[in-house]
Amino acid sequence: MTELHQAPVSLLHGVGEERAKALAGMGIESIADLLEYFPSRYEDYRVRDLTEVKDGERVTLAGTVYGEPSVRFYGKGKSRISVKLVMDRVVVTAVWFNQSFVKNRLAPGKEVLLTGKWDKHKLQITVSEMTEADSERAAKRGELAPVYPLRGDVTHAILRKLIMQALRQYGKEIAEILPADIVERYRLMPRAQAIEAIHFPADAENGRQARRRIMFEELFLFQLKIQTLRRINRQQTEGTALNIPMEEVRQFVSSLPFPLTEAQKRVVKEILDDMRAPHSMNRLLQGDVGSGKTVVAAIALLAAVKAGYQGALMVPTEILAEQHLQSLTSLLSPHGVQVALLSGSLTAKRRREVIGALQMGLVDVVVGTHALIQEDVFFSRLGLVITDEQHRFGVEQRRILRNKGLTPDVLFMTATPIPRTLAITAFGDMDVSTIDQMPAGRKPIETTWKKHEQFPAVLEQMRAELRRGRQAYVICPLIEESEKLDVQNAIDVHAQLTQVFPEFGVGLMHGRLPAKEKDAVMQAFLAGEYAVLVSTTVVEVGVNVPNATYMVIYDAERFGLAQLHQLRGRVGRGSEQSFCVLIADPKSEIGKERMRVMCETTDGFELSQRDLELRGPGDFFGTKQSGLPEFKVADLMSDYKALEVARQETARLVAERSFWQEERFHWLRQYLRREGVLDGTVFD
Ligand code: ADP
Ligand code: MG
Repeated sequence: MTELHQAPVSLLHGVGEERAKALAGMGIESIADLLEYFPSRYEDYRVRDLTEVKDGERVTLAGTVYGEPSVRFYGKGKSRISVKLVMDRVVVTAVWFNQSFVKNRLAPGKEVLLTGKWDKHKLQITVSEMTEADSERAAKRGELAPVYPLRGDVTHAILRKLIMQALRQYGKEIAEILPADIVERYRLMPRAQAIEAIHFPADAENGRQARRRIMFEELFLFQLKIQTLRRINRQQTEGTALNIPMEEVRQFVSSLPFPLTEAQKRVVKEILDDMRAPHSMNRLLQGDVGSGKTVVAAIALLAAVKAGYQGALMVPTEILAEQHLQSLTSLLSPHGVQVALLSGSLTAKRRREVIGALQMGLVDVVVGTHALIQEDVFFSRLGLVITDEQHRFGVEQRRILRNKGLTPDVLFMTATPIPRTLAITAFGDMDVSTIDQMPAGRKPIETTWKKHEQFPAVLEQMRAELRRGRQAYVICPLIEESEKLDVQNAIDVHAQLTQVFPEFGVGLMHGRLPAKEKDAVMQAFLAGEYAVLVSTTVVEVGVNVPNATYMVIYDAERFGLAQLHQLRGRVGRGSEQSFCVLIADPKSEIGKERMRVMCETTDGFELSQRDLELRGPGDFFGTKQSGLPEFKVADLMSDYKALEVARQETARLVAERSFWQEERFHWLRQYLRREGVLDGTVFD
């Protein structure tokens, strides 16, 4: 097959310079590219029996022309032809739009095959393709014809001919590339057979088997790359093996006001094991809102510090930085760990002091926004970086650190529960730790969905909660009134609620407030000076006010499920029953379904899976930053089991010495080189 990757398509009869160029425009340069240009679907030319065809279905029917065709012209260049045909002794009407030329082919008595859309009520087919029953193409009877994504001048007919020719001339050279034991274990169709059958399936089952084999191969090759990258990363000893004094870690854990959950214990072990290993940790820690990630982070930081290193915690916003500073200081400083803040809100003088202290090793743990690792900030011995709620710590950030001579362990924390399917795809080269258990005694948040007109009643329920001494969030999608959008804005709602609740303090929070003011508002809410906080989504991540038990989310249909879940996670953080009210009048069925899903479950992983199903994977992370690979045949939603199998099999394979040495794996190693994953790296 390597040879077929090097054989240009111009070797084929009928491919001159022009056509080669057109094919190149479709990404087809070699014979292998052509053979791997898979159809996106099949057109069903199998002649169907009228009685079994459903309304609106696209079908092929056989019939005899009966009576004269009638043509009607209307508008500019528009026409409609209709003719009666007999099919199985039923009289049926066939209709063509803007194809007046077919009239001459419709002599009475002629037998034809018509492909098009069936209208059961009118007994009518709207034809898109017609074949005379005695023509050569009628041999297509009983066939599933592939439909390819086309571009430029290359038509289906051309493509089919070329592929047929390539199969005839080079089909014997299509070698099996998957390991024989895998082909056998998963009962996969052999490669040569599958490539032929995906283009020209003998029947539906044959086509399905071909697709299954090629889907698996795609996922297998994808995972092979990822698992190889992982192995290379692990092989590099440029990371630091931390010598963690476990006794001190244990002491710290037993000093906590609560016992760790089993899930927390498990992930702590995974993280510490990784920190002790000589490679750089590259781990994702996912856990639902409130599952207790901060404590886990604190344990990891303590372990790094006690092993003689510094730690950094990077967060996306100043509010979060402040909050983490507080919780880490109260957790860690009794154990002799110096924690400092480094963020945009510091004065120049304070900033210089902190930077100096970091450089001299006087600060053990620094908390800040991503500016933390940049420019003039130097560490004396950075061993661990933890990022909270941002996936953006990637290759570039590692490079900056490496240039400073630092190769720390990195832990990514996220409360956006990523369905496992996506996690092993998008973050496939990372190790994943999951906290899949809530601390004991939590009451699930009671969520309800109300229409806008019910808002006054919601406010009364809220007043009752406030009278009990509880606090409430009211979330709005916008800061100010917008001419374009008819949605609630925080400033107006704040003014309104100040009137509705004269007896309570109502605060206002949004992203455009200066950092100092945001801080002051947050502190006042935490201190209980405000009973109600009207806010935009700036309170989305991490904010922790356990006395807040009531949340109203205005225009909830404007938020994604993952985001709603994040917002909702601001309540339900104490021992009291909490409530979340979604105010929304969604128009679409999907919108309504999303509101229902929110009310049904508080399990972030289930929500994200449902979100994925409702929106599709492209949308899940927002299309642009998704970083999800595109597959020709595989589909992450329906083929996730195969993805998991591929992951296990490839991880096993690249760990074996034989894979890097034996001739039978030559093709796969070549593939890794072609894909730029291996450049001279050899394992032994
Ligand atoms: P996350 O960051 O995962 O959303 P936090 O770390 O902020 O969650 O934890 C939420 C709350 O639960 C905090 O008040 C924390 O002190 C508490 N908590 C964490 N772990 C436990 C535990 N094992 N048992 C009881 N409470 C816990
Ligand atoms: Mg958190």
